[in-house]
Amino acid sequence: MAQHPAALIAEGRKRLAKSRRIVIKIGSKSLAGDAWQRMAEEVAALRAQRRQVIVVSSGAIALGISRLGLKSRPKDMPRLQAAAAAGQSALMQRWEGALNPLGLVAAQVLLTHADLADRSRSNNAQKALEALLAAGAIPVINENDAVSVEEIKFGDNDQLASMVVPLLSADLLLLLSDVEGLLDDQQQRVAYVRNGAREVSQFAGGATSGVGTGGMASKVQAAGRAALAGADVVIALARRPSVVTSVVAGEDVGTLFAKAPLRLSARKHWIAFTLRAKGALILDRGAAEAVRRNRSVLAVGVVGVRGQFDAGDSVTLVDTNGLEVGRGLALLSSVAAAAACGNAEAGEIVNRSDLVVLPDDPWSE
Ligand code: GLU
Repeated sequence: MAQHPAALIAEGRKRLAKSRRIVIKIGSKSLAGDAWQRMAEEVAALRAQRRQVIVVSSGAIALGISRLGLKSRPKDMPRLQAAAAAGQSALMQRWEGALNPLGLVAAQVLLTHADLADRSRSNNAQKALEALLAAGAIPVINENDAVSVEEIKFGDNDQLASMVVPLLSADLLLLLSDVEGLLDDQQQRVAYVRNGAREVSQFAGGATSGVGTGGMASKVQAAGRAALAGADVVIALARRPSVVTSVVAGEDVGTLFAKAPLRLSARKHWIAFTLRAKGALILDRGAAEAVRRNRSVLAVGVVGVRGQFDAGDSVTLVDTNGLEVGRGLALLSSVAAAAACGNAEAGEIVNRSDLVVLPDDPWSE
């Protein structure tokens, strides 16, 4: 793990005080006892400083399991959905009960992956959230688990939170859970990560346990993605007293993932991370090079097509070694693309405006 100069870390921490729009994601295992109360007080403190706050709250399934008298977390989807439905209302009751006495209005927003994967539905969700923030309310977002099945799930709420960041141009994401932060191989907290994608690739295997999902691997991935959307991200221990206030005050708490100066636009972020690739275009050497320089994908440089997709779907662009070069929206279906590939007359399969190529180091200005 790279060591960063203290001045760089201090500068990153100091920047957090300027955050205007903060997404706080809190995990199931951290929502018990007086956690709602403590979180509500932190949210109220941020509101008093004229910052906007969006809460992404897990906990529906955990609460539903006990409300429905189930002995453990169900494995089958219908009973998981039932638990989520029974738990979501109790979850909101807890947020209401904690926020209302502090003069704050909680507003439930339930999203499925399909809501964000569709551009016009995603715009609608964004407008509703903006209107809530303008009205001074606290959106409390969760996945609409009662109607989302495995294939269309976000994965977990860390991922959901990383998609809310570009949707609302948030400048800080807090991932609060039962870990102090990212730990190195000596089990020491890592204070600062600059290039999330590169520095922490060795932390691929995160454990998941008990009532929640996620784990460190998912948090690190979510942090890297949110940082590419231009937000600073802090992973910290939810039960640490005044954790949110401390982070925003610039204290050395948790792990700070620095935002990327070369941020992706919301649309490019959406193509790269919200959409799921339905197939792949295999590019010859020249086409892969052209894509790396942000040029359109021409049919003549495509040597193969994998998967089944329609025009407008997301595809991954791979070189002949199978390495992903970028992602983009296909102009042709998989059938039409397969017919066109190698043909010098056939034109573009992905236009450069629908193409995302991640720079090797988006943190170098
Ligand atoms: N949406 C799930 C719930 O509310 C939690 C997902 C997660 O923990 O990431 O129970």
